[in-house]
Amino acid sequence: MVIEIQKWIEDNKEQFIQISNEVWQYAELGLFETKSSTLHAKILEEAGFQVTKGVAGLPTAIIGTYGNEDPVIGILGEYDALPGLSQQIKPVKEPVVEGAPGQGCGHNLYGAACLAACIVIKNKIELGELKGTIRYYGCPAEENADGKGWMVKANLFDDVDISLTWHPWDMNYVLATNFQAIYNVVFQFKGRTAHAAADPFNGRSALDAVELMNVGCNYLREHIISDGRIHYVITQGGEAPNIVPDKAEVWYFVRAPLLEQVEEIYSRVIKVAEGAAMMTETEVKTVFLGGAANMLPNTTLEDLLQEKMEDIGPPVFSDEDRLFAHELKKSFPEKYFENLISTIPQDGKPHFERFKNKDFCDEILPIFGRGVTQGGSTDVGDVSWVTPLAQFATACAAIGTPGHSWQLVSQAGMHIGHTGMLQAAKVLALATAELMQNPEVVKKAQQEFENQIKITPYSCPLSDDLVPPIEYYRRIYNKHV
Ligand SMILES: [Zn+2]
Repeated sequence: MVIEIQKWIEDNKEQFIQISNEVWQYAELGLFETKSSTLHAKILEEAGFQVTKGVAGLPTAIIGTYGNEDPVIGILGEYDALPGLSQQIKPVKEPVVEGAPGQGCGHNLYGAACLAACIVIKNKIELGELKGTIRYYGCPAEENADGKGWMVKANLFDDVDISLTWHPWDMNYVLATNFQAIYNVVFQFKGRTAHAAADPFNGRSALDAVELMNVGCNYLREHIISDGRIHYVITQGGEAPNIVPDKAEVWYFVRAPLLEQVEEIYSRVIKVAEGAAMMTETEVKTVFLGGAANMLPNTTLEDLLQEKMEDIGPPVFSDEDRLFAHELKKSFPEKYFENLISTIPQDGKPHFERFKNKDFCDEILPIFGRGVTQGGSTDVGDVSWVTPLAQFATACAAIGTPGHSWQLVSQAGMHIGHTGMLQAAKVLALATAELMQNPEVVKKAQQEFENQIKITPYSCPLSDDLVPPIEYYRRIYNKHV
C-alpha cells in the first residue's frame, strides 16, 4: 500500500503540477479565487467526489467528500494569492504584470498536493483497500479573511475525526509551532468636510483621527506583552489637501500568542480609537473583518506525520534547481536567514545554522517548534480547536526564501515548488491511510484533543452576528481584481 500510494502520485504527477501551475497563473486574491476553486471542484467531481460549492457563505469555499464510513479524515487545501507580488519564473525581480497579485505563499502548491492525496486515498477506498471517508476542504482567503474560521463557524467540521494539512516552506519538518491568534479590524472615522484654507474651523478631520489613533497605538506598543503585535495600513485618507477629509479609514491586525491576549490588547486599541474620535470630534465605527485562534497542538498526529516524512524522505532537487536557487539567493536581504532563526528559542530550533550556506534543505528535520510561537497567524488554528489536527512543511523553496515575497512566487511556479509539493502529497496520503487502517491512532489523537479542550474550551473569534466581509474586500481589491 505504501509503495502503491507513492507510485500513483509519481505516475500522475503531471496532472497535479498542471493544476498547481494553473492556480499559480490565476493568482486570485482571497474570497475571489473563482477560477482556482472551480478548477479544484472540477477535479474532485471528475474523480467521483460529492462536491458542495460556496459553503459557509464563502463563494469560493468548496468541500469534496468520498466514502461514508468512519473515520472521516479532512484534508485542508488553500489557493489564494497575495496582492502586488506578480513575478515571472526568474531568479531576478520581473513581474508578469506590474502590481498584480502573485502566489507569494505557495498556496497553488498547497491545494494541488491536498487534491492528489485525497484522490489517491479515494482510489483505495473505492477498491475496498481502505475503510473510511476522505474529505477535501477547499479553504479560501487564508491570507486576508480567515476562510477556515468561517467554515468552522458554519459547523462544517462537526463529523470530522482528524484533520491534516501542510504548508510550502524552505524546510522539511512537522510544524508543531503555535501561530499567533489574530483580530482583523477596520476603523472608519467620520468627520465634517470644509475648505481646508477658507474655513478649516468648520471642518472636523477624519484623517486627523486616523493619525491620532495610530500615534496612540504606537505608544500603546510599549505597554503590551512583548509577543503582541499591532500593525496597520491607512486604506482611506481623503481626496485632496484642500478639502478637510470627512471620511478616513485605517485597517489593523492585532496579534498575540493566545486569543485571550489578543482580546485584551484589542480592548485597549478600541479605547485609543474612541479617544482619537473624541479629540477630533469625529465618530468612529469598527468593522470586524475576521480573526483566527492560535494553534492547539496534537502530539499523536505530529508523531504520525514525522514517521511518514521519514519514510518518504526529503524532496530531491535537480542541478537546474540548485543553479536557480544560487542566483535567487543573491536577492535575499543580507543576514535575513540568520536574523530570522535568531528569533527562535534555542531549544525549539533544530540547528538551523548549519543550513546557512546550503541551497536547499536536504533532510527531514526533527519535529519543529513544540512550545514555540511563530510570528504570523493562520486560520488552521481554528480548525485545530474543533478537530484533532497537525501540519507539516516541505521544502518548496531555497533556504532563507522570505515569506510573502516575489522570490517565493517564482519558485512556487517551477520544478522547485513542484518537488516539495509531491512529497507533501505523499506524506498526507500515507498518514491518512495509516489513520484509516489503525483506529488506535485515531482514538489516541482524539483523546489527547478531548483532554485539552476540557481544560480550555474553544472560543470562536468570529461572533454569531458576523458575515464574511466579501464586499469590503471587493472595494479594497478593486485596484487589483
Ligand atoms: Zn500561506
